[in-house]
Amino acid sequence: MNIPFNKPCITGKEKKYIEVVFQNQKFSGDGPFNKKCCQWIEDRYQCKKAFLTPSGTHALEMASLILQLKPGDEVVLPSYTFTSTANAFALWGVRLVFVDIRPDTMNINEQCIESAITDKTKAIVVVHYAGVSCHMDEIIRIGDKYNIPIIEDAAQGVGSSYNGNYVGTVGSIGCFSFHETKNYSCGEGGAILLNNPILIEKAEIIREKGTNREKFFRGEVDKYTWIDLGSSYLLNEMSAAYLFGQFMEEKTILTDRMNSWNLYYSQLMLLQEKGFLTLPSVPKECRHNAHMFYVKTKDENTRNSLMDYLKKQGIHSVFHYIPLHSSPAGKKYGRFHGQDHFTSKESSRLLRLPMFYGLTKTEILYICSHIKMFFNPS
Ligand SMILES: *Cc1c(COP(=O)(O)O)cnc(C)c1O
Repeated sequence: MNIPFNKPCITGKEKKYIEVVFQNQKFSGDGPFNKKCCQWIEDRYQCKKAFLTPSGTHALEMASLILQLKPGDEVVLPSYTFTSTANAFALWGVRLVFVDIRPDTMNINEQCIESAITDKTKAIVVVHYAGVSCHMDEIIRIGDKYNIPIIEDAAQGVGSSYNGNYVGTVGSIGCFSFHETKNYSCGEGGAILLNNPILIEKAEIIREKGTNREKFFRGEVDKYTWIDLGSSYLLNEMSAAYLFGQFMEEKTILTDRMNSWNLYYSQLMLLQEKGFLTLPSVPKECRHNAHMFYVKTKDENTRNSLMDYLKKQGIHSVFHYIPLHSSPAGKKYGRFHGQDHFTSKESSRLLRLPMFYGLTKTEILYICSHIKMFFNPS
């Protein structure tokens, strides 16, 4: 057996839609498939406005521009995240204030946020790790108390919800990723989700190279001009067509991933009961999207031996996120506030198992039997 960590998701609908792009002869942004995708996100996940972006990273950068963050401002964010969550702000001279995570979900520890807030704090950035929502009630309470917007890095959380609300629509700005490794993809792509009309108007200008072209198209102004700073944050039409094919198979993709996730969980439960592994935990307010299946071993050495052992069996597992506060750029552009109780320790014992659309039952049983063998060699 040779089981990769990830395989791109192809449902079969994508090609047909891409052919329509050729018929339509419209390849740049904001074409028919872009509009269909945005409408689909707005209806399905319940937000006022969604714009497709070239990546999840770009959606986060747009969030930073929309809030007009400037040098000297600060954002509070978890240290355990992908570099894009931090880069998007550090790029414009914003200082990063890293805080600890919760060991159960690997999400930002909501209890650590309030003491990290200063009069320079201009946003709280949360990451819904593995598609399991952060504790949004408390985070929203803090945001409201200090009048600080919440940015949701929902790159991994497309379709996940918290108390019935989809992640990416709970805070002020939500960011999705449609990278090849995410649940719904188009190779490289993303989306920004907004509800506030003032932020929507800013987003329209920023994504159109700083112009009010959007207003011009709607007939609200009779010519368009450069009115503020901006850039190009549009997704090309072929990618949007591919993505639309995936949206049309949303339920199939989600069911397939959820079945895999549940099978992993039931197969490995005994190892958790025996104390060899910790499995992912999903708080009762959260509905996850089976983005990722990870296990945590007792320590880093065991994690690394398990990874090597699986590799010898043709199984490709990976770990990730060296805590940002201990990375060279993290030290340069930020600081850690409070105590690192869990970030370093929990990240060093985490291992991600293969998870993708089309992963078979046989493959999962093979992986789990080898994990069992690793812990019970007899
Ligand atoms: C994937 C990911 C991103 C970046 O998304 P891209 O589309 O690859 O730019 C940002 N944050 C998190 C937590 C991610 O997992």
